[in-house]
Formats: sequence, structure tokens, C-alpha cells
Amino acid sequence: MRTKIIATIGPASSSKPVLARLVEAGVRIFRLNFSHGNAADFEGLIAAIRDLEREYAVPLTILQDLPGPKFRIGEINGGSAQVEKGQKLLLGDGKEAPGPEDGSRVLIPFTHRQILESMEEGDIIALADGALQLLVGKRFTPGLFEVEALSSGIITSRKGLALPGKPVRLAALTELDRKNLADGLRLGVDAVALSYVQTPEDIREAKQFIREQGCNIPVIAKLERRNAVENLEAILEETNIVMVARGDLGVECPLEDLPAMQKRIIRACNRAGKPVIVATQMLLSMVHSPSPTRAEVTDVANAVLDGADCIMLSEETAMGNYPVETVEYMDKIASSAEQLLQERALGQLDKLAADRTVPDFLAFSACLLARRSGASALVAHSRSGATARLLSAHQPSQPIFALTPCRQALHDLNFSWGVKPCLIKEDGFTHLERVENFIEAHSPFTSGEVFVITAGQPKKGQSSIETNLVKIYQK
Ligand code: PGA
Ligand code: MN
Repeated sequence: MRTKIIATIGPASSSKPVLARLVEAGVRIFRLNFSHGNAADFEGLIAAIRDLEREYAVPLTILQDLPGPKFRIGEINGGSAQVEKGQKLLLGDGKEAPGPEDGSRVLIPFTHRQILESMEEGDIIALADGALQLLVGKRFTPGLFEVEALSSGIITSRKGLALPGKPVRLAALTELDRKNLADGLRLGVDAVALSYVQTPEDIREAKQFIREQGCNIPVIAKLERRNAVENLEAILEETNIVMVARGDLGVECPLEDLPAMQKRIIRACNRAGKPVIVATQMLLSMVHSPSPTRAEVTDVANAVLDGADCIMLSEETAMGNYPVETVEYMDKIASSAEQLLQERALGQLDKLAADRTVPDFLAFSACLLARRSGASALVAHSRSGATARLLSAHQPSQPIFALTPCRQALHDLNFSWGVKPCLIKEDGFTHLERVENFIEAHSPFTSGEVFVITAGQPKKGQSSIETNLVKIYQK
């Protein structure tokens, strides 16, 4: 299997024997979820993972996942309240209220100043990962609002509260995160994931903090806010790794948009050459069941086919009944999907290669390199002239200097588009050295200019060989 599996560790998987079985099943990255514990809770676990790393002689990566600014409501009077669609409730800091006109209304206690300040009439609030939605009504006091339930349901204490799609300027790294990260770094975590990232600045802040602790570990941007997805290109400039955090992203954005978003994000990460993780509910039914649903199997396979580097398990391995079986299943699904991935990739190559030879590919890539590196010229050692002609066929914007010791080839090359044939001596230098000597001696080329060289470099005792070398050379 080439796709990497990340397993979140929790009560179902923190014993050494289960950890060992997870390693045997293919897990190489263990995620410690600091939403459910602190460094002291994870210290033993980290030591156990390091032991296994030695015992199995495989590198095991410890990923610290920081909770970030996730907001929770307070204690509901009586622990929970049943609400009906259309029912008017109160939300906010009740203590400050001068007493709303109807004291019998359910109060949802919520005290975060910055969120309350930015809340406006007409906003939508999602409670408990979107299980219940509330419409924000009029503001009674700076910290107390009327809200209307948009569906019926039960509100229980300490549920998460989000304002989907509303940009609230809050740094992704909270004070608690800083403390946890400092502790994590001390215990030797290998990577850190930041929740609710919104801007590249969030990543820069975390990196700065990590440097200040004298460490240098990769940062994972969890994309779970709409503006993070909008800022993806800028975030990709800063972050090392990206996570498609489908749990919270599915609350922030219409659920039906999630598949297309996942594909777009993965494509952007693939292009930027940054690893990308697909997370949340991949094999959720396996928390209770020893086998997954058709939809889940298809979801895991599609993530692999989309181009994910890593696929992540959360509750499945943290608190499920079948943590090892889930990883085994994931491994089987990914391996099977990878076969299709390979067939497709080979098909692509075959299509491109149908009428192309290896030397043509080499010439083509030299032309691409010349364009990307801003080279002044392509300089080819081409005894027969064949490579120079292949380069010419791609009509690069740079001149092609074709160096040949053969008079016939010299004259033939005058027919080829963009080629400047030059006679060189068959001396004791290697073909590469001849080209480099030419560049150094050719006075129109100035120092600092970049060139892309191609040459056929024979081994000792060999007289000639097809072009087998492409090199970027700066005069
Ligand atoms: P979480 O992040 O599990 O920390 O919430 C992943 C997600 O939101 O999908
Ligand atoms: Mn999340």
C-alpha cells in the first residue's frame, strides 16, 4: 500500500498490544487529539509508540492535533432542553441581562465576547456539528440575543457552537494550544495540526512559536473553515501539509459541496507538492460494526483516486469496537484502489508515449526545464544531430546550440528550426565537459546566465551513446 493511514489514538487503542497490532496492520502515523487530553495524558502513549518504533524498526510519526478556537455553549439548565422548530430561545451571557421580557425562555449560555460581538441579526448558528441550527434575532444587551430554532431537536450542555461561513478574526493558535504545543514539543511530537486555520498568518504564527521552542516540525493546516478554502493558495505557500477536515468543513459549508471541495483541495495540494490528508467519517460505521458500508468503502477508494497522500481514522480507532479491523479494511480498500490508480497513470503515460521514444521524452523535459529555469539557451552535445532535432521539434523559445564533432551533422543541422550548429573537437574531455567548456568560452554568453545541457555521456570504454543526461548549468 502506498497511501498512508493515520490512526487517532483513544481509549480503544492506547494499550501497547493494540498499538502493536495497528502498526502491524499498516499504521505509520498516530494522531493524539488534544481536544480530549493534555500532554500528561499522552506521555505514556508517546513512550509506548517510541518503544514500538524500536521494536518494529519502522519510523512511527506522532501527530499532535490541537483543538484551536472551538467554542462550546455552557451548562443548559437541567442538562438538556427539547426545542421545537420555530421556538424562540435566548443565547448569550444571561448574567448580564437586565432580564429579558420572558423569563420562561430557555437560555443557551454562551460567553465568548469576541463571537458575541461579531454576531448579527440574520446569522445562522450551528450547534453540535450542525445537528441543530439557530437563526440569530434581536440583540437585547451586548451579550444576549434572541434566537429561533430552525429545526426541532435536543440541546445538550457543552455542545460546539459555530457560525458557518462567518469570518471571525480569531487566531488558530489559542493560549491553550500554545501551552499544549510547548508540552508536545518537549515530549517529542513529530508534527502538529492546527484547527480552524483561516489565513496563512495562522501558519506563520505556529511556525514562529515552534522555532522559539528550538524545534522544527511540520505544520498541518486543517481546512475546516470556508475562508481557509478560499485562502488555500496562500495557505499552501506557508503550510507543510493540509488536512481536508470534513467534519467541521461539512458544518461550515453545504454538505453537498463537500465532495467537489475535497477534489479541488487535493488537486491544489498535489500541484503544490504538499501532502494532503483526507479525514473524518471514512469508515465510521466500523465503530460498531466489523465491516464497512458500500458507501464508506467507495469513499475511501475515491479519496485515494482523488490523490490523497494520507487517509485518517478518528472515532474508528480512538473509541470504536474494531480499531484493528478498521485499519485492515482501510489497507485493503486503498491497495485495491491503488491498482486502478496505477492503471490510469500508466494509461496516461502510454497515451503520451504512443508515438514517442525515450530520447524524445528527454528532449521534451529539457525544453520544459529550459522554460521553467529561465535558461538563455539549450546546449546539446549531439554527435549525429538526432538530439538537436528532437529539441527543435518542440520549438523551445531558447536557441539550441548543437555541438558536434561530425562535419556532416554540422551541415544537416542547418535545416533544423532554432538550431545553431557548432563544430567541436573530439578531444579527451567528456561530452558534458565539452559542453561546459563551450559555454565558458562562448563570449556572447555572460556569467550568471543559465543553460540547459543535454549530452550522451558514454561510460569508460564505450564509444558513443544516446543522450542520457540533462543538466542545469550556470555560467
Ligand atoms: P477534528 O478535525 O476531528 O479535530 O474536529 C477533523 C474534522 O473536523 O474533520
Ligand atoms: Mn475539526
